[in-house]
Amino acid sequence: MIITIDGPSGTGKSTIARELARALHFTFFDTGAMYRSFAWFVQNQLVEPTDLQKVISLSADFSFSIETDSQRAKQYFVGQTEVTDQIRSESISSLASQIAKIPEVRESLVRIQRKLGHSSHAVFEGRDMGTVVFPEADLKIFLTASPEIRAERRYQELLTRFPDCADSFNFSQILQDIVQRDHNDTTRLISPLKQASDAVLIDTSHLSIQQIVHQIVELHKERVRRVFPKMKWSYWLVYSCARLFFRLFFRLRVEGLEYFRPGAGIIAANHVSLYDPEVVSVSCPEEVHFLAKESLFRIPILGRLIRILNSHPVSRDGSDAATFRLILRLLQEGKKVILFPEGSRSDDGRIQPLEKGLPFLVQKAKCSIYPVYVSGAFEAWPRSRKFPKLRGRMTCSFGPPIEWEEFEKMDKKEAMQKINERTREALCALKIQTEEMRPR
Ligand code: C5P
Repeated sequence: MIITIDGPSGTGKSTIARELARALHFTFFDTGAMYRSFAWFVQNQLVEPTDLQKVISLSADFSFSIETDSQRAKQYFVGQTEVTDQIRSESISSLASQIAKIPEVRESLVRIQRKLGHSSHAVFEGRDMGTVVFPEADLKIFLTASPEIRAERRYQELLTRFPDCADSFNFSQILQDIVQRDHNDTTRLISPLKQASDAVLIDTSHLSIQQIVHQIVELHKERVRRVFPKMKWSYWLVYSCARLFFRLFFRLRVEGLEYFRPGAGIIAANHVSLYDPEVVSVSCPEEVHFLAKESLFRIPILGRLIRILNSHPVSRDGSDAATFRLILRLLQEGKKVILFPEGSRSDDGRIQPLEKGLPFLVQKAKCSIYPVYVSGAFEAWPRSRKFPKLRGRMTCSFGPPIEWEEFEKMDKKEAMQKINERTREALCALKIQTEEMRPR
């Protein structure tokens, strides 16, 4: 999934995009830093920005890379040279805006940007992300703010970044530069800065970063729901009734829906109760599949209902191989499957060690894991009770997905162990978070 954030400088774009990416566990790309890095390259090669032929030929040789340091901050490299701080000077700001007008330069940089967006869930921040680079983005945001407010922000940023040069900063000069850059960016012939027709406009003048990020996360959640294929009507009907039941009788709350992404995945849930598969199913924004004991399908109404909810029978004496084949097939078809990696229900509500099935499937299917913790189901229907309670409080909390690529370079045995460790850690973290937030 791609989220684009465009707008003029000083609207808080970079900070908002970075915080948003952190909140959603997406990768963040600041494309202004790419234009700045190229401007640095031009300056470093002593090429005049007016010498178009030379600038264009440099753009073909531009070697740009991004690394993440131990504090998870981005570092920008041109060739082997780190330019992260140098590209923030005012002279580079103006030069970047000047060379960004050159169509061939834009073509080279857009190629790099599309390549970066190809395989990841990412937030791209820039000027033409929603209009030119990613016209098919899942969510487009356009930020604005008055030039005076943007100049004030830039002034404060420069004072913080370069306190030793405080005397050389002049507010009216910064304001003038901003107005000039807006003019350059909005009037250039190729990819001018403008709001995409399907972008959401947010004026950041009087909003805090947290308020804006929250607003975008909510918009993202709404889009996520729209991205998923429509449920079959019979599934939707049972899903809606079951959801209503859990909402009415257990005041079911669902957290972390923003982490849901289209495509195959294993929803790895803790297991304490026979309520778990139904609660997780009705908490998901799309059709999901789960496995259930064959005997449950023989119970008159329940059997029919869980079949409609995409459950698949597994017999106690049936082979593991057949079950694995079934799950693999579903994952290969791009579906999501709920699994309980502990194997069986916990007797005391604690998360038990995980079995080998989950890592085996993740390695075979190369899919994401969505950790999810159900709280309140143990009190409602623990293993020790024959009949369930019909009142209580439940929360279903999804955590950030764990991607199979994380384990790609490990040998098979190490990957099996790490997948289980990461998943169990994620479940335990969700348990702490959910139990702490839970209304008593
Ligand atoms: O966003 P930032 O101020 O770092 O961008 C530096 C310059 O790079 C901008 O003034 C703009 O001219 C250019 N730019 C662009 N297209 C982008 C990102 C930045 O033209 N996608």
